[in-house]
Amino acid sequence: LIAKLPHVGTSIFTQMTTLANAEQALNLSQGFPDFETDPRLTQLVSAAMEKGHNQYAPMIGAQSLRETIVNKYKVVYDVDVDPSEELTITAGGTQAIFTALATVVGAGDEVIIFEPAYDSYAPTIELFGGKVIPVRLLAPDFQIDWDYVATLINEKTRLVIINNPNNPTGKVLGNEELNKLGKLLEGTGTLLLSDEVYEHLVFDGVEPQSVLSIPALRERSFVVASFGKLLHTTGWKIGYCVAPAMLTREFRKIHQFNVFSVNTPMQIAIAEYLKDIAYIDNLAGFFEKKRDLLKNGLKESRFKVLPCEGTYFLNLDYSAISQEKEFDFARYLTTHHKIATIPLSAFYKQATDQQVLRVCFAKQDVTLSEAVAILNKI
Ligand code: GLN
Repeated sequence: LIAKLPHVGTSIFTQMTTLANAEQALNLSQGFPDFETDPRLTQLVSAAMEKGHNQYAPMIGAQSLRETIVNKYKVVYDVDVDPSEELTITAGGTQAIFTALATVVGAGDEVIIFEPAYDSYAPTIELFGGKVIPVRLLAPDFQIDWDYVATLINEKTRLVIINNPNNPTGKVLGNEELNKLGKLLEGTGTLLLSDEVYEHLVFDGVEPQSVLSIPALRERSFVVASFGKLLHTTGWKIGYCVAPAMLTREFRKIHQFNVFSVNTPMQIAIAEYLKDIAYIDNLAGFFEKKRDLLKNGLKESRFKVLPCEGTYFLNLDYSAISQEKEFDFARYLTTHHKIATIPLSAFYKQATDQQVLRVCFAKQDVTLSEAVAILNKI
């Protein structure tokens, strides 16, 4: 056997969740809610099944769901998306990212990513023969030097990947930064993959951002989104990809042979549920309260809470407690204090010498209170 990804092991999310379960520790590591989705939504799934929506959905996605998504973009950003030419329903955000990379990355192509970066990007780029060009950003502000990024762009740069809001940093790139990126890419052959799976989880008055509202970016972008984050249903594995017709055509050629189509009753149910766009409006407030519960609860602790404008992740600097490496300290907290987190170094090609752990606050308030009690004793 010739291994295609010899340096890749089991993902840090699976590792830490497995350890948390074995240790019966509070699991704030992998990003998933520990509360249920709205029963009205699960009832809509049963209803869709009972009504006979049990065979293949159209390859590009159920029409009602595509129309619901198009409506969302119109209401939130006042942009028009063509539901038949520019939008494909996928089996989750990760599959959309995989297919987008399969669509455009070939041998020798360079792909710029910003570290800390979501763990699927680099191995997927490499699988298709691409070369990862990491831009390393550091705590606490993870600032991007666009002039430096400009020096990395050449005729081999096939793609830039951004994740906005960013997992794990919690940063949101606003209009100004996105326009800088637009200027940088204008006139080049470089495409953009904008991973917007945490799009609606933005706090403190920060507005949702999508590159679809920036014409210079939209014409060269795959935009990826996820219903798991939106509806507290990470196990349903449904997301989508928006891209200009020319890119979508190529994306679908690959989509049809690795997924073909995505499960029907859930698509029908989500479409029905999201007809009421107010649900989306209320989501940010719901998560902002959870962020604040954790953040305020840690004010007197020895952890330093880093800023978080979006996503459901908060970063904790533990340099006042220990100089231990992040992986070791995260393991120690799980086994000795029964709380599981993610070492930030997992998101870098080469571990940093920072002391930062990521915690997920998509948890019941009682779970967050337990976490606060544990962390205050450390
Ligand atoms: N996106 C989730 C996180 O960052 C994990 C998803 C996964 O385990 N693949 O925690």
